[in-house]
Amino acid sequence: MAQFSITRTTNPTSDAVRNAALADPGFGHYYVDHQVVIDYVGGDGWQDPRIIPMGEWSLHPAAATLHYGQEIFEGLKAYRRDDDSIWLFRPDRNAARFVGSAQRMGMAPLPEDLFLDSVNELVTLEKSWVPVSENEQSLYIRPFMIASEPYLGVREANNYRFAVIATPAGPYYSEPVKLWITPNYTRSAPGGTGTAKCGGNYAASLVATQEAAENGCGQVLWTDGAEHKWVEECGTMNIMFVTADGELVTPSLGTILAGVTRESILSLATMHDLKPVERPISIDEVLDGVDSGQIPEVFACGTAAVVTPIVGFNSPGRGVQQVGDGQPGPKTQEIRKHLVDIQYGRAEDPFGWTKRVC
Ligand SMILES: *Cc1c(COP(=O)(O)O)cnc(C)c1O
Repeated sequence: MAQFSITRTTNPTSDAVRNAALADPGFGHYYVDHQVVIDYVGGDGWQDPRIIPMGEWSLHPAAATLHYGQEIFEGLKAYRRDDDSIWLFRPDRNAARFVGSAQRMGMAPLPEDLFLDSVNELVTLEKSWVPVSENEQSLYIRPFMIASEPYLGVREANNYRFAVIATPAGPYYSEPVKLWITPNYTRSAPGGTGTAKCGGNYAASLVATQEAAENGCGQVLWTDGAEHKWVEECGTMNIMFVTADGELVTPSLGTILAGVTRESILSLATMHDLKPVERPISIDEVLDGVDSGQIPEVFACGTAAVVTPIVGFNSPGRGVQQVGDGQPGPKTQEIRKHLVDIQYGRAEDPFGWTKRVC
């Protein structure tokens, strides 16, 4: 267990202000009073794990992250149970993925136990910021890392900063979404950064999300970078198809982000009489299947929204198509409830996924 020094804020949020924030937190509007910071110095390793008041840092204008985009992040949640204990969901998977993202971006990998200790320390200190479980509220935790070394040459930086911040997240009623199949953009290609959780992937996706909105859709369904033929993911969520034959089909890993929610739902599939199948699936197979009823349900999944029903597609070739009757399907709702119930301790946790913080 790493030793964290703690510098407490001299200006803590009052109970009244925090309770008002927790009554209607939204997402990313309020931050807990402290943050974790750990610096990496080339040659010397990870230095001085510390908790400091939430607030600005100073950064040299030549810091490499500002120029060449070495930045990675994670997203996970702390859940308050009915007995007031606070739990995480598979934080070890986030810690492991953070190492993978760092390696892909040429950054110093943070030891997994330091990642886990950082999250635990911050959540323990800020447990009063974890909302009650009603309406699926939680504390959203954002670990991230930047290249902090001031240097304008193009190479891997020597120095990095890892930090953890957290924001209370309000009730997330996952509204059904329609997906736009963009003919113009891709998010990933073989050998690219699609498997890393890096800010650059998101920067490159924003213009396509704008295009989706112009076409009446809430999100993009990305296709592969070579042929625009194979389904990839939604860009903040992975995608799954329920088939009439009782399969739960999702694209194989390779150029997509390996979601913890995706992995977990694949493990739960058989309990919902669905056979989990990871394989390439083409846009034509999806759109034909949606038309014929071979694919009666589609959903997207990720930590923020857990499971989001996909009720339609829009594409330049085929226009607007509705999935099923345009409503969230029964398997989608069942799986969503099962996962949320495990996270909040209301259902058995057969795989030991949940970890108590305090
Ligand atoms: C984070 C993320 C997901 C979802 O991953 P979870 O671990 O389930 O939250 C999916 N796609 C992309 C591109 C992501 O960044």
